[in-house]
Amino acid sequence: MAALAFENVTLGYGRHPAVHHLKGRLAPGSLTAVIGPNGSGKSTLFKGIMGLIHPMEGHIHLEGLAPGEIAYLPQLADIDRSFPATVQELVALGLWKSRGLFGGVGKADRANVAAALSAVGLTGFARQTLDKLSGGQVQRALFARVLLQDAKLILLDEPFTAIDAKTTEDLVDVIRRWHGEKRTVVAVLHDIELVRRHFPDCLLMAREAVAWGKTLDVLAPANLTRARAMNEAWDDKAPWCEPVKAA
Ligand code: ADP
Ligand code: MG
Repeated sequence: MAALAFENVTLGYGRHPAVHHLKGRLAPGSLTAVIGPNGSGKSTLFKGIMGLIHPMEGHIHLEGLAPGEIAYLPQLADIDRSFPATVQELVALGLWKSRGLFGGVGKADRANVAAALSAVGLTGFARQTLDKLSGGQVQRALFARVLLQDAKLILLDEPFTAIDAKTTEDLVDVIRRWHGEKRTVVAVLHDIELVRRHFPDCLLMAREAVAWGKTLDVLAPANLTRARAMNEAWDDKAPWCEPVKAA
């Protein structure tokens, strides 16, 4: 099982920090929602965990995890859907860890891909090209790829933004299954009701952690108000950390 520990982590771009002094731990097998206003550093945090950007300060400890054992779903807006690939090819990329990039997709793999497509409600779509799919269908295909990756830690960045209600419901079921399998799952979400219903733990960000713990405590109105105020008070051009006073 995988855990993640943040030791006074500051992440940013150039000399501008975007996430400040994060301290804490994601327990093995936990299911955590990350929420916060736009620009509050949620995606930056995921890029830090993935090693796409390096901490300006502090350390991120991956406990019981090799880098290849993390599955990462970027925001849909960041994915190029004009890429000339079929659903099967996209989903089979989830197998590269066990097969190697040029290992080829055998009969057993095709069966695994078909099973993953069935699990996300995309049976019959294997040969469809990505440009013919709706946003919800692309997201289902990306979840199927994560299913095949068999990762201990799964990071989902806004998986349900601009996705229809039925797809959201189906994919929440997939997330709950991952949780039941003791995988560690972290998802950036905007729908507070959905967080309340399905995510036991929550991290509320506003350039730093405003609150982190049990969802019902974190979602207290005072915390949400404070997060909004802190985010608005932030100066994007600030060269280094000026701690924001609590309201
Ligand atoms: P969120 O995902 O919470 O909306 P982000 O992590 O994307 O927020 O962004 C946090 C801050 O970092 C914002 O001020 C944003 O403008 C800045 N930022 C994000 N990506 C980059 C980048 N590639 N280069 C420079 N600044 C960036
Ligand atoms: Mg983001």
